[in-house]
Amino acid sequence: MDLAQFIRDIPNFPKEGIIFKDITPLLKNATAFEESIAQLSEPYWDMGITDVVGIESRGFIFGAALAIELGVGFIPIRKPGKLPGKTTSEEYSLEYGTDTIELHTDALNMHSNVIICDDLLATGGTAAAAVKLIKSLDAHIAGLSFVIELEFLNGREKILDVPIYSLIKY
Ligand code: AMP
Repeated sequence: MDLAQFIRDIPNFPKEGIIFKDITPLLKNATAFEESIAQLSEPYWDMGITDVVGIESRGFIFGAALAIELGVGFIPIRKPGKLPGKTTSEEYSLEYGTDTIELHTDALNMHSNVIICDDLLATGGTAAAAVKLIKSLDAHIAGLSFVIELEFLNGREKILDVPIYSLIKY
């Protein structure tokens, strides 16, 4: 099944010059959504995965389904001020300004072997920050998985030491 047919381009969203890759048609189609989770899970069977870490907010949709598929727990990485317990945070640069993501400090430890999941890899800034957060808790990262990768933005170059998997490449 070609999942790319379920991705819709929305030009100039959220601002001029950006072509937004809209995943909502994929989510609405039960077969395509199920297939995307089957494909995301493929590299990880028998790898001793303990948790899937999803990045707010579209990473929650795919990450939670992937966690259920693999029979492991789900851990959210969230925007600042959303997680109620003690958190560790990581700031990273955007095109203009900075952003921050947070993770509960008791969510992972040296025995954890996790997957990071998000809908899309663009510049890699968000994913690289997620890698740092997880490593700060001494957890091992088995891989990063994305539904979509914008290869022309070279996000992979920011994350050289962890395998990266993506289903649809542009
Ligand atoms: P980056 O940190 O540049 O890799 O950006 C990744 C995050 O921004 C992901 O959580 C995506 O959901 C979102 N994102 C960036 N570019 C796009 C795009 N063209 N279409 C949809 N989402 C995007």
